[in-house]
Amino acid sequence: MTRSFLSRLTGSFAMPAAENPTVAMVEAAYHHHDLDIRYINCEVAPENLGDAVKGVRAMGWIGFNCSIPHKVAVIDHLDGLGESAAVMRAVNCAVRRGDKFIGENTDGKGFLLSLRNAIDPAGKTIVMLGAGGAARAIGVELAFAGAKRIIVANRSELRGRELVDLLNGKTKTSAELVHWREPYEVSTETDVVINATSIGLYPNVDARLDLNTETLRPGLVVADVIPNPPKTRLAREALARGCAAGDHLALILNLALLCVWLTRGVLWLLMAVGHGLSCFMLRQMEYDADR
Ligand code: NDP
Repeated sequence: MTRSFLSRLTGSFAMPAAENPTVAMVEAAYHHHDLDIRYINCEVAPENLGDAVKGVRAMGWIGFNCSIPHKVAVIDHLDGLGESAAVMRAVNCAVRRGDKFIGENTDGKGFLLSLRNAIDPAGKTIVMLGAGGAARAIGVELAFAGAKRIIVANRSELRGRELVDLLNGKTKTSAELVHWREPYEVSTETDVVINATSIGLYPNVDARLDLNTETLRPGLVVADVIPNPPKTRLAREALARGCAAGDHLALILNLALLCVWLTRGVLWLLMAVGHGLSCFMLRQMEYDADR
């Protein structure tokens, strides 16, 4: 036998999963470097998450990503957590080390790399809309980066309170909660507004945040965690009002880079991720053309 037909396996668990471009990017990277590894994009319902992780163990996967709605729930099915994932209590990347699956989190780090293109968060006042897995990861990294104050606005008060308590209890940043029940008004001392909710994610690309866009003033930095579409409705509205709005392709690139680095330990895959990005942009153009 000259070659093995048994590929190593990686992948992603999310629901929905069809809008997630990671498979195109990571498989392009594997292919470019002649790595015999597959990346399987799986749609997994919350009640099946435990079985999915058992399946991963049974099939000997070397790692997997997880996205909505599994980032917190997956912790119960893993063997341990890396340092930042342990503070955030959220996981977007599980890595097999020996016979154990260890949860890591690259969400906040990737986002911060992109945000720094527009502003250094040190000493800044930041409004975070949302308090889910992405908000938690980004909030902790913002605090570690020296943000002065984080105002968390969330629809569910309980979930918002958990994030605020985490930031106040485990970081030096001062955090406060706004129970988000009416159009959010951005105060003049705010330097950065981050949409860390899932509002605007494909296919609901026209969904609108409950935000008074009149309060978005020129010079304010507005960033969005939504990876697809690359330019969200919020970003378009913010740009029209003279705000600086984030670069979503750079965000996706940074996230992919960190996930691949953790899973394979090889930073040189960065170049191939660029190729994957062009595949994603092609899909986006096809999607735009269909509309
Ligand atoms: P979660 O399900 O953990 O959290 C969703 C958040 O959105 C919650 O705060 C939820 O509020 C809020 N939300 C959802 N719908 C509404 C609504 N109609 N009105 C008000 N609030 C709402 O999801 P994640 O945090 O994992 O993911 C959120 C988004 O971030 C996704 O689009 C995902 O693709 C993106 N993402 C970006 C990353 C990055 O930039 N680094 C990394 C990971 C994900 P409530 O608590 O009240 O339900």
